[in-house]
Amino acid sequence: MKKIIFDLDNTLIKFDDSYFLDYAKVLRGTYKDGKNLYKIIGEYEKLKKIYDKEELVSFINYKMNTNYNIDLINNLNDIISNNWIYKIPDNLDDVLSYLYKKYKLYVLTNWFTDCQEKRLENANILKYFKEVVGNDKYLSKPSIDGYLHIIGDTNKKDVIMIGDNIDIDIKGAKDVGINYILCDYDNKYKVKNKINNIIRLKEML
Ligand SMILES: [Mg+2]
Repeated sequence: MKKIIFDLDNTLIKFDDSYFLDYAKVLRGTYKDGKNLYKIIGEYEKLKKIYDKEELVSFINYKMNTNYNIDLINNLNDIISNNWIYKIPDNLDDVLSYLYKKYKLYVLTNWFTDCQEKRLENANILKYFKEVVGNDKYLSKPSIDGYLHIIGDTNKKDVIMIGDNIDIDIKGAKDVGINYILCDYDNKYKVKNKINNIIRLKEML
């Protein structure tokens, strides 16, 4: 093994339902509005394979019948990068500092690269990663675009994906032909190649 690709949300940092309040805050709306914005961004992700701030705002305005400008996304990214940094699995730093000495580590995420980089920096774990690849630069997972960028000329047998989402992270890994480990922290799935605590990576890799 030479390279490890990590997903970010719910793999390295847990997504918390309280974050819907942050969506609400940038909208100056209710918790329900916040949840709706999250859903709309999910719809955009399925339609648009490369994120663009202007297009995303237009899509949100179209769906919500509103008139926001690009500040909506910039304000949201500020909150995400500064505040969404505390829900980190126990022992994550221990695991990453171990893996970082043996492999090249990457993050492949379906969100804006700059925002996710700042977020990892604020969580004090950016230092472990060689590159953060967002879907404003490469097509969203499960498209294989970002995977291929990270794999480069490395043999596919020497690359592994670590992620929490079967339809996104693991599908992309299967499609591109690399190994994978599913992070199933809540023990939801009956599949091989899964862990329920990130510390297990220290024994496996
Ligand atoms: Mg995830």
